[in-house]
Amino acid sequence: MSSKRVIIVGGVAGGASAAARARRLCEDCEIVVFERGPHVSFANCGLPYFVGGEIVEHDSLLVQTPDSLHARFNLDVRVKTEVLRIDRHGRRVHVREVETGREYDEAYDALILSTGAAPLKPPIPGIERPNHFTVRTIPDVDKIMAWSRGCERCRAVVVGGGYIGLEMAEQLRHRDFQVTVVEALPQVMTPLDPEMAAWLHAELRDNGVTLHLNDPVAAFEAPTPAEPARASIVVLKSGRRIPADSVVLGLGVKPETKLAREAGLEIGALGGIRVNEHLQTSDPDIWAVGDAIEVHDFVTGQWALIPLAGPANRQGRIVADNVFGRSSRYEGTLGTAIIRLFKLTAGCTGANEKSLRRAGIAYQALHLHPNSHAGYYPGAEPIALKILFAHETGKLLGAQAVGHDGVDKRLDVLATALKVGMTVNDLAGLELAYAPPYGSAKDPVNLAGMAAQNVLAGDVGIAQWSDVPSPALLLDVRRDDERASGFIPGSIHIPLDQLRARLGELPRDREIVVYCESGQRSYYAARILSQRGFRVRNLTGSYRTWTMTQR
Ligand code: FAD
Repeated sequence: MSSKRVIIVGGVAGGASAAARARRLCEDCEIVVFERGPHVSFANCGLPYFVGGEIVEHDSLLVQTPDSLHARFNLDVRVKTEVLRIDRHGRRVHVREVETGREYDEAYDALILSTGAAPLKPPIPGIERPNHFTVRTIPDVDKIMAWSRGCERCRAVVVGGGYIGLEMAEQLRHRDFQVTVVEALPQVMTPLDPEMAAWLHAELRDNGVTLHLNDPVAAFEAPTPAEPARASIVVLKSGRRIPADSVVLGLGVKPETKLAREAGLEIGALGGIRVNEHLQTSDPDIWAVGDAIEVHDFVTGQWALIPLAGPANRQGRIVADNVFGRSSRYEGTLGTAIIRLFKLTAGCTGANEKSLRRAGIAYQALHLHPNSHAGYYPGAEPIALKILFAHETGKLLGAQAVGHDGVDKRLDVLATALKVGMTVNDLAGLELAYAPPYGSAKDPVNLAGMAAQNVLAGDVGIAQWSDVPSPALLLDVRRDDERASGFIPGSIHIPLDQLRARLGELPRDREIVVYCESGQRSYYAARILSQRGFRVRNLTGSYRTWTMTQR
């Protein structure tokens, strides 16, 4: 093995992972990690939980330290040291010690950039006012903790309903702050389709979070004499003025590409560093990973920015392989993500409807509400499950799930299925772990596959919550007591068990869209009706999905 000199810029998720793997591949190499901040390998994903008090010890956020990385991996980790420039021709980096200002050069044989992403701060008037916080580093949350100490029932406004904003909203509620979430778009968590995000809207409101959707921030202002003496007034485009003791900015992130840009490396149209499948930049001696790079969306094949810890960590391993001559490929990112919001868990993997439409890929969408485990065993909870699959082939394209129990394991099965290119037939045939406390003999993932098989086989047509055609007759086949607790306006009611006897009440010259609570009994009804010559479709997800979209 050659004794290369490897320099890594950025010592957190991707950088630390690359450094540790590099050492495992080359005991004699010199490996230097430069990190601008005071910490390496810290738990950025844990930061909101430290603010909320679920993670109690500050030191728990430090997964490794420069000393522990030196002891275990013989890494030369230099914190508080910023890389200012790359001299590609001389194969050197120019660095500055943040505290002393001392500047010097270091030579490299291979350079790995894991410079991450920076919180977005759009030019909204007043965005830099006091008590406005971003959440990216330990010093960021130290500032939030310093502000919040001694602050009782303070009012925090979280701007941005992405996962960092929502995790912060949850954690600030845990600490009994009054919390408002402001989102410019009509929904939070945009990787979810709107009817799935609707569950999160309800959970936020049910837990005392005030939610303003579809209303971007126009300005942050000082309070007028007539307003409460707060740190800022958050002024929305609608004219609403929200007093805030603090503002948490969760407006997304943008790749940190200054070094790469100034060194003339290729930058993609989305603003991330362009790399090939071996994570090599346009300079063969320079590699890049993590939030700073553009990746291929695994499903659509399009370039994408997907800033997540799993991809960054795996890329760190792959890049080290390639630096040391092992041809290792990064195959693209599925965007598998999960969030806990109070008692709810929500997650997604692969494409959503927006990304499929953008990519021009024909798809079918199915909603189900299966139980998390056998219904007869105590504690079963419905999971709102959505799958997207290719119109012609049945290939799985994406999945989303929301619920109180069992969401994470279904999501991980579906993410695995996506990665290996499974079809809905494969999902129907999966043999998954079952005992009553854990699942059902037909697991939700099996049921999703079977329901999709029914569609592909032409056994049932489906209607979506968003396109219940107005001339169609809506038929509710639930029980009387279910009907009494609410129904879709304009629908008629024939309980499923009476349907065969009451076919004469239904028109043969109109399409019938049939619904029940979850879509299962309405599927049975659709089969009865279609075999009796009626034109019929099943409302996928049925009343449960439809009601969520109305909240
Ligand atoms: P980072 O881990 O951000 O590391 C980049 C480092 O490079 C920074 O420390 C920076 O100081 C340093 N740097 C940049 N430029 C220079 C320079 N010129 N010289 C020296 N050093 C430099 N992802 C998930 O998948 N699940 C989660 O639950 C999750 N939760 C998150 C919660 C929060 C609050 C945050 C902030 C992120 C979360 N993420 C989560 C995202 C995840 O943390 C990132 O995707 C991941 O850390 C990216 O790794 P990276 O190595 O690209 O960048």
